[in-house]
Amino acid sequence: MQESSDSRLTMPAEADWLDIREGVRRICDGFPNDYWLKLDHASEYPSEFVAALTEAGYLGCLIPEEYGGSGLPLSAGCAVLETIHETGCNAAACHAQMYTMGTVLKHGSEEQKRRYLPDIAAGKLRLQAFGVTEPTTGSDTTQLKTRADKVGNKYVVNGQKVWTSRVQYSDLMLLLARTTPADQVKRRSEGLSVFLVDLREAKDNGVSINKIDAMINHNTCEVFFDNLEVPPDNLIGEEGRGFKYIVDSMNAERILIASESLGDAKFFIRRAAEYAKERVVFGHPIGKNQGVQFPIARAHAQMVAAELLVRKAAALFEAGRDCGAEANMGKMLASEAAWQAGEACMQTFGGFAYAREYGIERKWREARLYQTAPISTNMILAYVGQHVLGMPRSY
Ligand SMILES: Cc1cc2nc3c(=O)[nH]c(=O)nc-3n(C[C@H](O)[C@H](O)[C@H](O)COP(=O)(O)OP(=O)(O)OC[C@H]3O[C@@H](n4cnc5c(N)ncnc54)[C@H](O)[C@@H]3O)c2cc1C
Repeated sequence: MQESSDSRLTMPAEADWLDIREGVRRICDGFPNDYWLKLDHASEYPSEFVAALTEAGYLGCLIPEEYGGSGLPLSAGCAVLETIHETGCNAAACHAQMYTMGTVLKHGSEEQKRRYLPDIAAGKLRLQAFGVTEPTTGSDTTQLKTRADKVGNKYVVNGQKVWTSRVQYSDLMLLLARTTPADQVKRRSEGLSVFLVDLREAKDNGVSINKIDAMINHNTCEVFFDNLEVPPDNLIGEEGRGFKYIVDSMNAERILIASESLGDAKFFIRRAAEYAKERVVFGHPIGKNQGVQFPIARAHAQMVAAELLVRKAAALFEAGRDCGAEANMGKMLASEAAWQAGEACMQTFGGFAYAREYGIERKWREARLYQTAPISTNMILAYVGQHVLGMPRSY
């Protein structure tokens, strides 16, 4: 069993990064529900929103100063994403940059970091696409089928990814592909490699893309690789160690996504409590009824509990300590808290929850995602069962 030894851990206080929260809130105020609704109807990318965040420097906040970013710790990125979601906006169009960048930073060569990170920080290059999931293997990542074979002095990629979000709006894609056949490695996590694919050259030149008609406006696609040539300079780290590199960046990803769920939960709770105080039926505000009030209060308690765990995960991460259990459990609890809050909000708004102009149903659809992606709840429970509680591997 994993020991808990965090008595000396300093957790970021709730009021942390107030200046960042205020700045992000000001930007978000310029992108009200109408803006998101129009994009939702047209299934379009929020280019103006992403540009505003980039210009203000928020999307480069985790990139070290020596590479043109602000060099802030993970909790600052969490504050950015949480605030975006708390205000009713959505960070899914740009959040990937914060966690995919970590793989380049930690495992890329100095030359790669100098080549890409300053332009990413300046908003000249977008690293928003992350190609891991495949249609036939799903959560069983190590079994993925996309191959990158060394032919002469190049890698040649063949295969298919699915649910590759933002790939149509990204210049670069972090790609996980098999470089050594699965039957030639000792452990199934070996023989996979990470590449930085330059989509500007690759689109219609070995890469073709089909947009998926999805329940939310997430710009997510199927990607096909047909003899795509990738120069060896674009291999990140050592060949064959890519799965480890991706896993390395997962704790940051979990904590950042959990922060978005916390923001969603706060959005729903605020909107539900406001409406419950204003809406008068049977001669009194509906919030006077325990049947309306208690689900909102319960959702608040669940959100606060999840928030404590997510903040603990961020504090452990920033202290350079193991945070796998906290990051996973925090992501699970935050996504569930957001969903419970969404349910309470939908019920509180009654029929008006279904009117798109209120922005509740859009958020409800969007918040559901984080129980499935980037990792589904069952896989987190499997992690806790095996790695925290020491039970046998269930899959
Ligand atoms: C909108 C959207 C955006 C996405 N963006 C990206 C992206 O940018 N890049 C990317 O690589 N991926 C992306 N994904 C993919 C996402 O990470 C996967 O959908 C997710 O990891 C689950 O994989 P799957 O859909 O293949 O489900 P499956 O692996 O088929 O699983 C289906 C269900 O079965 C459960 N299950 C499977 N095996 C077990 C087991 N052994 N024990 C218990 N339960 C099990 C799962 O928990 C899940 O509930 C996105 C998905 C969506 C919907």
